[in-house]
Amino acid sequence: MSKVPNDARTAAAAALKRLEQKGVRSVYLEGVVLGATPPVAAAPASSPAIAPTRPKPAAPMPIPAGLSELAKTVSVCTRCDLHKSRTQTVFGVGNPNAKLMFIGEAPGAEEDARGEPFVGRAGQLLTKIIAAMGMTRDQVYIANILKCRPPQNRDPLPSEVECCEEYLRAQIAMIKPKYICALGRIAAHWLLKTDAPLGALRTGNYTYEGIPVIVTYHPAALLRNPAFKAPCWEDMKKLMALLKDA
Ligand code: SF4
Repeated sequence: MSKVPNDARTAAAAALKRLEQKGVRSVYLEGVVLGATPPVAAAPASSPAIAPTRPKPAAPMPIPAGLSELAKTVSVCTRCDLHKSRTQTVFGVGNPNAKLMFIGEAPGAEEDARGEPFVGRAGQLLTKIIAAMGMTRDQVYIANILKCRPPQNRDPLPSEVECCEEYLRAQIAMIKPKYICALGRIAAHWLLKTDAPLGALRTGNYTYEGIPVIVTYHPAALLRNPAFKAPCWEDMKKLMALLKDA
């Protein structure tokens, strides 16, 4: 085996540490698995007697058949560290047969306290927007990517999204909305698998699993910058026109 210089080892260890802090769990390179622990040689694919040493992805979650059963599963979830600081999970609310599903980022303090998404100041604004569209919260479905509140309302970590996204995927599959409205950058980026700026995403035509996605500002952004209200309303008018034929 060729000898690796110490400075190369130090640089590689530092690079791995940085990746780990970003939520990357492992890096697979030419038959070698690198992770937070020392590198482990992967077993040759042709060796039936030796168990593969590449880390397995997180075990698939048993997803129950209905929304209420899924909510029960989520309520006791401990797949990521956010379960340690939450008051309760925030699953989603609304009509299980809704034509329109709003998807946001994660619960805030008020949502964590009440167990319902979009009930704080930003949520009250969303409720007003929904009313201005001629609907009530009971007619749409509202959910977030994360079901537990990140501390200090920080952005979700990639590792947290990876742990939680299967729940949202299942929610969308069960509700089967005709349209999805992505509220803000984080939701848009997750749904559309892009990191394009929100302003650019607002004007494009996109789908998630065949469902048309309208991208607009998060209501919290409207509170921070009222200049976003007019373009947001333009987005909602586009959505209303689409819903007429849904
Ligand atoms: S954020 Fe999602 S994955 Fe993490 S503990 Fe809460 S429900 Fe589970």
